[in-house]
Amino acid sequence: MSQIPLLLSDYATLSAKELSERIEAVRQQLGRKLLILGHHYQSDAVIAHTDIQGDSFQLSREASERVDCESIVFGGVHFMAETADILANRPERIASRGGRRIPVCLPDLEAGCPMADLANEVEITDCWTQLGSYVDLTEVTPITYVNSTAALKAFCGARGGLACTSTNARAVLEWAFAQRPRVLFVPDQHLGCNTLVQMGVRREEMILWNPKLPLGGNTPEAIQQAKAILWYGYCEVHQEIGVQDLERSRQETPGVKIGVHPECCEAVVTSADVAGSTAKLIQIVKNAAPGERWAIGTERILVERLVRLYPDRVVGCVGGSASVGRYQCKTMAKTTLTNLAWTVENIARGTPVNVITVPEAVATDARLALERMLAAK
Ligand code: SF4
Repeated sequence: MSQIPLLLSDYATLSAKELSERIEAVRQQLGRKLLILGHHYQSDAVIAHTDIQGDSFQLSREASERVDCESIVFGGVHFMAETADILANRPERIASRGGRRIPVCLPDLEAGCPMADLANEVEITDCWTQLGSYVDLTEVTPITYVNSTAALKAFCGARGGLACTSTNARAVLEWAFAQRPRVLFVPDQHLGCNTLVQMGVRREEMILWNPKLPLGGNTPEAIQQAKAILWYGYCEVHQEIGVQDLERSRQETPGVKIGVHPECCEAVVTSADVAGSTAKLIQIVKNAAPGERWAIGTERILVERLVRLYPDRVVGCVGGSASVGRYQCKTMAKTTLTNLAWTVENIARGTPVNVITVPEAVATDARLALERMLAAK
């Protein structure tokens, strides 16, 4: 008879110490059979109980390559757990395990990504159909940032398109332009625009597509002339960073260098000293000489960790004193010691909870988009 899962409410009164001890007890018991992944934006309390820390795609690749684990817990948000499920439960992997799927668990099902939610399959299909009235769709490569739903990745995969990360966006766009003359880039307008500008594509060759407006807010002529159609999506955490925040950092800390994430708007990226993915920003700080001063424009949990690790070179978030309480991804913060302990104890008991499963019909095309991305590097 199948067991009933443990209740989350039973963990509500446990102290942080008790929760930590219980999580570690499960990790000891299951060893390499349990893989706990932690995105860089997770709290230190959660990170302390993870096997691997990284950005979204680094973590999914780990999930895909670890052949000896039997369950995965993703300390991150929903699209990351979907990607982990798509890669860890490839048909050949399932066959090698005698038909067994690995459960990929997300400790809080409300941990979504507001940017990924700004592009749904219905709206993208509608956009594609409208574009088809003005351009030859065989000339357009659809590209989705990995911060998107599995359905969007499947949409791109099924149409000869692919996924990208903030690390490989340029390589992916170069690959796409070598195949076809136009791209549709979803959902992050800023990553698309910043990368295209870096590649020498002019602003006049890009249009923004707002799905709430007829023809996305464009004229037929503008669509026909566009080399890149950028979805109107954005990350609310990175979009909050403005040029005035960089100016304040420079006023408060003369000589400070500024590194920002390419999900920031074009004016911020242009004004910064360096723009790069989460992994690149961490590397810049690691490689900086002691005494160099860096202000970082990305999610605050990561920046605060960098300040603790490298107090001799990181001054904090861009914006200085005006950054207090800003730039926190609320959905990333939904993973806590409480729901992590509940998740791992249910796995140990054989009653996994909050299992993210991408239907194979969607996963097959989404996997195509992810595999093309890896090949385009
Ligand atoms: S930081 Fe931005 S892109 Fe990342 S999960 Fe949060 S809302 Fe999504």
